[in-house]
Amino acid sequence: MKKYIIVQKYGGSSVANIARIKAVAKRVVAAKNSRNHVVVVVSALGDTTDDLEALAFNLSRTPPDREMDMLMSTGEQISCALLAIAVKEMGHDAISFTGPQVGIQTDKTHTRARIETISGHRIRKALAQDKIVIVAGYQGVTDEDEITTLGRGGSDLTAVALAQALKAKVCEIYTDVNGIYTADPRLVKEARKIKVITFDEMLEMASLGAQVMQARSIEVAKRFNISLHVRSSFSKEEGTMIVKKNEKLEDVAVRGVTCSKSDAKITICAVPDRTGIAAKIFTEISKVGVSVDTIVQNVSHTKQTDISFTVPKSSLPKALQAAKAAAREIHAGDVLYDKNIARISIVGSGMRSHHGIAARMFQALAENKINIEMIATSEISVSCIISQRHAEKAVRSLHEKFELEKVE
Ligand code: ADP
Ligand code: ASP
Ligand code: MG
Repeated sequence: MKKYIIVQKYGGSSVANIARIKAVAKRVVAAKNSRNHVVVVVSALGDTTDDLEALAFNLSRTPPDREMDMLMSTGEQISCALLAIAVKEMGHDAISFTGPQVGIQTDKTHTRARIETISGHRIRKALAQDKIVIVAGYQGVTDEDEITTLGRGGSDLTAVALAQALKAKVCEIYTDVNGIYTADPRLVKEARKIKVITFDEMLEMASLGAQVMQARSIEVAKRFNISLHVRSSFSKEEGTMIVKKNEKLEDVAVRGVTCSKSDAKITICAVPDRTGIAAKIFTEISKVGVSVDTIVQNVSHTKQTDISFTVPKSSLPKALQAAKAAAREIHAGDVLYDKNIARISIVGSGMRSHHGIAARMFQALAENKINIEMIATSEISVSCIISQRHAEKAVRSLHEKFELEKVE
């Protein structure tokens, strides 16, 4: 009889200590039966990855990316071995592997490598021996045997990529909340669990700050149409299904509210209003490998204008240097920056057909005396850049404005 494969991923808080590792081991063993195989992906214990990163930054402000990958990938090696020990202690056969051992081949972009292929040969062999396979998330290896990591939250990507490579029947993402909520439940106590969400909406929410799923993992799930079940490792409750299409007849206008504090804003003042100036500035910034997000440029009536844009906070020093060089060259004015900004967004695929959604968002912010510094829209989202000190208030007021606490 051919058995089907279940992939389960457990996040850091689900394996934060020995008691939790034992609880996960029980769950994994319960999932395995005579009809299926179980492949488990684990994150590093609790805050291990943050702690490792902090250690490196104690030694250098700019630790080399290659060495960061050597360091950061160790967290998952610990958790996969411990889980295998726990499962074996329960009398079941298990084996742990690192990403490189199971042939997760990536490109050479250290700290945010992209998966190119997965051989999975050792996984298949271990499954054929009826073992529970436990794989260290978040890591891979280049064709030159260099260890890489897949970007923060990358264990989600490992799980989805393995589900695709192994043609798994089920891919479950176990975390510390009961599923995907209408807003971060830590921020908004009225937030409601969403039963079903589409890949497009989840991708937008993840890209705009809902850290519960890594955005890249959703991209892969969407490309290969791998449905995901996001649920809690602490309860048996059903979580959220992330799927291609929602069966509901009409899409809701706003599915969720997100908040991201990971960007900084740069403003180049008194930019001469001439053809080719924006091209010059953003070419300089792209040359240093920084990706720019929201850009605002006003039409000028005085032959000069300010240009503002956001970049990831981690790229701010590089981006500032490039912006200052470009500003000098084009005879612009000062270059200012602000690290204390937040991006507040509303997301929903029904926005394609509902109108007035952005206006309601701006009303909610105005009613709370929150100034909007920049605005960006996509087909299914509207984002506002505001001061970070208003972030929590903004998320709560938008949640209320769009009555998301009434989601059933
Ligand atoms: P894990 O360690 O399991 O990967 P993460 O910390 O990466 O877990 O993601 C889970 C956290 O994401 C939750 O604890 C929650 O605070 C946060 N979060 C942010 N937005 C949302 C949302 N819309 N729905 C659910 N959780 C969210
Ligand atoms: N441990 C890694 C991180 O904290 C990967 C993950 O948890 O998915 O980003
Ligand atoms: Mg995560």
